[in-house]
Amino acid sequence: MVTKWDVIVIGAGMAGLKAAHDIQQAGKSVLVLEAKNRIGGRIHTVHDFAPVPIELGGELIHTEQADTWELVHAHNIATYQQNEIGIMRGDKWVSLAQDNQDEDTVLHQLVNKAQKVGMPKANETMENYLLRLGMTSHDYPFSFRIIEYDTELFNRWDAQTLVQMAEDYADTDYGKTDYHVIGGQETLLNVLKTGLTIQLNAIVKQINWGKHGVTVKTESGIQYASQHLILTIPPLVLQKRDIQFVPDLPKRKWQAIDSFGRSDIVKVIFHFNKRLLPDSFGSILDEGGLPPIWWRSNNAYPECEGDVLVGWASADNARQLIAMSESDAIQTALDSLRKALRQDTIIPTQARLHHWNDDPFACGAYPYIKPGGGFAIVELAEPLQKVLFWAGAATSADFSTVHGAYASGKRVAQEVLQKG
Ligand SMILES: Cc1cc2nc3c(=O)[nH]c(=O)nc-3n(C[C@H](O)[C@H](O)[C@H](O)COP(=O)(O)OP(=O)(O)OC[C@H]3O[C@@H](n4cnc5c(N)ncnc54)[C@H](O)[C@@H]3O)c2cc1C
Repeated sequence: MVTKWDVIVIGAGMAGLKAAHDIQQAGKSVLVLEAKNRIGGRIHTVHDFAPVPIELGGELIHTEQADTWELVHAHNIATYQQNEIGIMRGDKWVSLAQDNQDEDTVLHQLVNKAQKVGMPKANETMENYLLRLGMTSHDYPFSFRIIEYDTELFNRWDAQTLVQMAEDYADTDYGKTDYHVIGGQETLLNVLKTGLTIQLNAIVKQINWGKHGVTVKTESGIQYASQHLILTIPPLVLQKRDIQFVPDLPKRKWQAIDSFGRSDIVKVIFHFNKRLLPDSFGSILDEGGLPPIWWRSNNAYPECEGDVLVGWASADNARQLIAMSESDAIQTALDSLRKALRQDTIIPTQARLHHWNDDPFACGAYPYIKPGGGFAIVELAEPLQKVLFWAGAATSADFSTVHGAYASGKRVAQEVLQKG
């Protein structure tokens, strides 16, 4: 006989673990089904690369406002702030913040201008909307370019979503204050997973759902039953239609799922046995470099001599690197870093390139919203018949972050507990 759980959660990433943790704390029985042989999803802390942990996926706590701070503080988890961003001016590294002192004003001005000109049209790209405001891609303020550096180009993005984001971010420290978790982001996952029943290697293939509850079938034919189901599967994975829903999901839910596009992201990570970045900067911006952004991830580890540097490429930069063989891409990144640092002969002791496009359970790093998809985040989060509940970063306004995933897990646990 199949045991019936109160709640099954699909996905042991940040969203799924937070949801399961809160539901278990409320005294309900909960099972987490995870396709991979590890927890974490798009958080993957690796310990065998360098004397310090490195992150192949989610790494930084963005902003002082991130929801994950409540977990960090409650468990006394150590963090350190990434120092300022440096940029080369003449032959000197200077602080990007000082170089862009009018930044906040520019972002606020843009929001004001948008309020006067009116919101973007439905289906309009951000690039087109900014052109209507008289701004070409050469004029974007850094706070806008940082969104492109983090995700995708504005000619792919839904303008309405981005204007909303600009309004939300105008009064935060987004893009300015980032923190590393000492020991890696997996430290947060390890707190949440304590005491949970997690079935690894459980690739969900079929979901039968209705007012009576849910039956979930995995690739190996095992069935699990529950009263409620929480899905944290990323929309880029659902888009493949590999999971059969019986009955099918409503059309509006599929439209929401299909409104997410894939941000191409590549990380190139080097370990050098000497310090390379200027000490006062945690990261550097090398516009025109491939990758254009580098940060140090060993600042809080005095025992680690040298530098562990993470190169970050998105959008066209990432696509260029992905199109090369891995060794050519690593060599390209090394040449670019040598040029940026004006150190022609540096040789790393370790090198690694990682992207998520070929991962069948992520299908890319994280999404952006395609034109016309302004409704998608709210629609994706909408429960169906008080039985199917939805979480995951893509159901949060901070849809490309760890804290967005965490907040969605917290939100969905409340929804289920209120309904159940
Ligand atoms: C390269 C990269 C860098 C990033 N950097 C940052 C950063 O610095 N700061 C930040 O805040 N965020 C960052 N992010 C984003 C952040 O990592 C994600 O938004 C967050 O981890 C998503 O969590 P989630 O639980 O919503 O989804 P996921 O972590 O993707 O979890 C979903 C889970 O569902 C599982 N699953 C999928 N299909 C099935 C199935 N059929 N059956 C069973 N299980 C299934 C997956 O294996 C996965 O474990 C980064 C992401 C990447 C990839």
